Amino acid sequence: MATIGFIGLGNMGGPMAGNLVKAGHKVKGFDLVPASVKAAEKAGVAAVPGIAEAARDVDVVITMLPAGEHVRQVYMGEGGVFSAAGKGTLAIDSSTIDVGSARAVHAAAAAAGIDMLDAPVSGGVAGAAAGTLTFMVGGADAAFARGKPIFEAMGRAIVHAGGPGNGQVAKVCNNMILGITMIGISEAFTLGEKLGLDPKKLFDISSKASGSCWAMLNHLPVPGIVESSAANRDYKPGFAAAMMHKDLKLSQEAAAQAGAATPLGAQAAALYTLFVNAGHGGQDYSAIIKLLQGR
Ligand code: NAD
Repeated sequence: MATIGFIGLGNMGGPMAGNLVKAGHKVKGFDLVPASVKAAEKAGVAAVPGIAEAARDVDVVITMLPAGEHVRQVYMGEGGVFSAAGKGTLAIDSSTIDVGSARAVHAAAAAAGIDMLDAPVSGGVAGAAAGTLTFMVGGADAAFARGKPIFEAMGRAIVHAGGPGNGQVAKVCNNMILGITMIGISEAFTLGEKLGLDPKKLFDISSKASGSCWAMLNHLPVPGIVESSAANRDYKPGFAAAMMHKDLKLSQEAAAQAGAATPLGAQAAALYTLFVNAGHGGQDYSAIIKLLQGR
């Protein structure tokens, strides 16, 4: 069993750290918010006073932070992980961040003699609590082999996506597909209804025809048809529109840097910006159908 330093004990990090404790690992944790630290302590995490204390004398450091700027600061800043962790430590960043920051942190890790993996997740807070997250992992083969048993304590599907930053690339590409398809489904179901087609009929046909896709089968934005839809629970997330908005903005940033044309991704990002700016960021991402319905 490993000694692990866990930095960022928020909605996702708290339960992930708790699952590492359950699996028998020794976990030291740090967060800026005392209430999050208290909750993690209840799950068996030993609180430490700072980043350096979490990164020193451990086999593995895991971070679960809001965005790229926090990740750069926590790893590369003064008193950060790379100045405190011993050579040979494995660092895992599971935050969803921009590809550029992920690759910059990988390069700094290599210079410090530290193995690094970017490992963003899907599965949300429920998946973090249940230990059923999907990890999309970028980094060297040897680092992935070291990280795999750690991921298995927190997730169900663990996929090695390639070299440094490729976990983040997989995450933004996947979520760009999800955002675009949710808008497509919302448009089609709004059009069908306006033309007098019962949404249940459209679902019965389309879910078995060429229009079928994961978002339709699992997160249909119309209530009363698919059991797992947030639409049945007044669009309570689920996967919040604010999170989809963040991921679509990251995909646009990545597309601009790579020189890739993503015109539908750009439209999807703009529509979620409208929706979130109108105050609906806390609703499920499938609630975007209301924007298209003019509600
Ligand atoms: P959160 O805001 O609940 O948690 C982030 C934590 O990081 C906070 O508790 C904050 O205090 C802490 N933090 C920030 N700067 C710090 C520092 N310098 N030192 C120590 N702690 C610091 O966010 P979350 O929902 O747990 O999400 C974390 C990451 O996971 C994000 O990148 C998010 O995009 C990604 N993600 C979230 C979900 C979800 O459903 N919540 C799903 C998939 C991916």
